[in-house]
Amino acid sequence: MAEHESLEFGKADFVLLDNVSMEEFMANLKLRFEKGRIYSYIGEVVVSVNPYRAMNIYGRDTVEQYKGRELYERPPHLFAIADAAYKAMKRRNKDTCIVISGESGAGKTEASKYIMQYIAAITNPNQRAEVERVKNMLLKSNCVLEAFGNAKTNRNDNSSRFGKYMDINFDFKGDPIGGHINNYLLEKSRVIFQQDGERSFHSFYQLLRGAPDSLIRLLHMQKDATAYSYIKVGGQIKSSINDGADFKAVADAMKVIGFTGDEIQTVYRILAAILHLGNLTFGVDGDTTLIENVKLVSVLRDLLSSSEDGVEKALLYRTVATGRDVIEKQHTEQEASYGRDALAKAMYERLFCWIVGRINDIIEVKNYDARVHGKNTVIGVLDIYGFEIFQNNSFEQFCINYCNEKLQQLFIQLVLKQEQEEYQREGIPWRHIDYFNNQIIVDLVEQQHKGIFSVLDEACMNVGKVTDEVFLQGLNGKLAKHAHYTSRKLSPTDKSLEFDRDFRIRHYAGDVVYSVVGFIDKNKDTLFQDFKRLLYNSSNPVLKAMWPEGKLSITEVTKRPLTAATLFKSSMISLVENLASKEPYYVRCIKPNEVKSPLLLEQERCRHQVEYLGLLENVRVRRAGFAYRQTYPRFLQRYKMISEFTWPNHDLPSDKDAVRRLLQGCGFDGDAAYGKTKVFIRTPRTLFSLEEQRADMV
Ligand code: ADP
Ligand code: MG
Repeated sequence: MAEHESLEFGKADFVLLDNVSMEEFMANLKLRFEKGRIYSYIGEVVVSVNPYRAMNIYGRDTVEQYKGRELYERPPHLFAIADAAYKAMKRRNKDTCIVISGESGAGKTEASKYIMQYIAAITNPNQRAEVERVKNMLLKSNCVLEAFGNAKTNRNDNSSRFGKYMDINFDFKGDPIGGHINNYLLEKSRVIFQQDGERSFHSFYQLLRGAPDSLIRLLHMQKDATAYSYIKVGGQIKSSINDGADFKAVADAMKVIGFTGDEIQTVYRILAAILHLGNLTFGVDGDTTLIENVKLVSVLRDLLSSSEDGVEKALLYRTVATGRDVIEKQHTEQEASYGRDALAKAMYERLFCWIVGRINDIIEVKNYDARVHGKNTVIGVLDIYGFEIFQNNSFEQFCINYCNEKLQQLFIQLVLKQEQEEYQREGIPWRHIDYFNNQIIVDLVEQQHKGIFSVLDEACMNVGKVTDEVFLQGLNGKLAKHAHYTSRKLSPTDKSLEFDRDFRIRHYAGDVVYSVVGFIDKNKDTLFQDFKRLLYNSSNPVLKAMWPEGKLSITEVTKRPLTAATLFKSSMISLVENLASKEPYYVRCIKPNEVKSPLLLEQERCRHQVEYLGLLENVRVRRAGFAYRQTYPRFLQRYKMISEFTWPNHDLPSDKDAVRRLLQGCGFDGDAAYGKTKVFIRTPRTLFSLEEQRADMV
């Protein structure tokens, strides 16, 4: 509960709304936004609205105002939640995490950076050199990750195209000593294609604009982005970003973090190889598929340090095992193009994962002896894609929305669990809270055998016909009775669904129609073994190390590679397990408008986000228990002036008795419960009334 703020800015905590209705919620959100109050609370959850302008609220002076304070002592701020997570970790030796969610452009990544900045600012009071080094590397790692994982989209000029979870490790003094990053589902299709008005990953343009001429020559490149068909569309876009300057910043960051010269060089070679690959075209001559621009083959051979005819062979043939025989099968023109694009995407994805892995090697905690130094604790920060509902929703949206179902489930469990535990600690009876439990939707997606991912994997393993329609039929067969699943076959009158193409899921956040087109292909995510072998056989050791599975020849490849769905599901399950083991703090980000305006809060857009972020539900859960809780001394400190029994001091045996006396005097005793260390007040109205009486007195 944020005090210290006048009501002219609206209610700092949505729990204090008179009625929990969308109208009141929206009115308060709008009022606060217009008054420049971009942060609010729901209990301990921060609600943030992207201001789309520089706010003077992140400086050193603000840090000082939040440092070591309790949440409700200052107006709502990210720093308050960062401080709460830090304090909980330091005081109670608990691992904590901060989960940031919201749609693209809502301000998640900025929020995660401010949180890290805050933590960096309040730690290491003794300026230990080693800790400063770690802090610097943690902050620098962001710059590298953004170069390779972010892109300009129509929604956000610097949109993260991957999910990120970062652990920061602290020693017993509460100073950062290392970290670890997990990345999730990079949008690799962007490597070969971008929508109008969008760009590919920043790294490509940075290389073209920022690399010195000698490097450009070495990579057989020219500086003009429009010369490369993979990034042509995006290449023409004037961007607000300074790619040239960023190239140098990223190169410096890689050096500071500890990438070797050879490693950095290999990174550039891979970027260049991908761009050249995109310009490669195939043709046919009789029965033969051929590469039209053979000069590029030698360029690729050089960039990938591969053998004489390796590149050409891998692009035109694949090795197949038929029984005992191993034969070289020539690609059709179409297969060859498919393979080329798959190679480009896979090389980039692998590069990205390798960069994350290298950063992890370097920032990982070393030489920490828990027996000497005590427990090493962690704050995790999760910056991950929010719910997505587009015009056309495919496999990617399906995965992302599943991720959000998992996080919502965790939220429900943890918030309720936290409430319950606090009541137990304080010796207050637990009351049942009514809420929508989305476990049923999580199961719909991830359950063994019956879940959508299982049906998809099964369809991919079919020996006969493997098509997206077969997958849809599988779903219709298995899920016909499921309350949260439907399709045209099951609801013939529903014209919003196309036969043989669409299915609809009733997510906790609303209905989403998915088109099955591409599901099978994206799930199989095939990369011919010949490419893996090509890269593994490179004489560049850095590149070779990225492709260990290329070691196997075709007859040795016995297992099917895991499908994209299976990989994603297990990464989500372990993410959620990890988060569940920590004490969570939440930041919910809202994007006020589509046009990046600092003035406009579009009601309809925001209402929609409030809905799918589950914010009203959140307020309800919070209010169904006790809207407010406060330790006895602090409560008295704030309200003692409203009762003759407590002003200026009380002579009762304990603060607890004094608080009880005060509340009895105002007639609010029935709305309160008295725990061991805290008073709990059920309805916000009581609190308002207390605030009003207080205002009359001071
Ligand atoms: P997301 O990660 O949710 O997609 P970002 O954090 O990248 O969104 O934010 C998108 C853009 O919005 C930023 O590039 C910045 O211009 C603006 N922005 C976001 N948060 C803030 C903030 N707190 N103050 C000022 N501008 C912000
Ligand atoms: Mg982002």
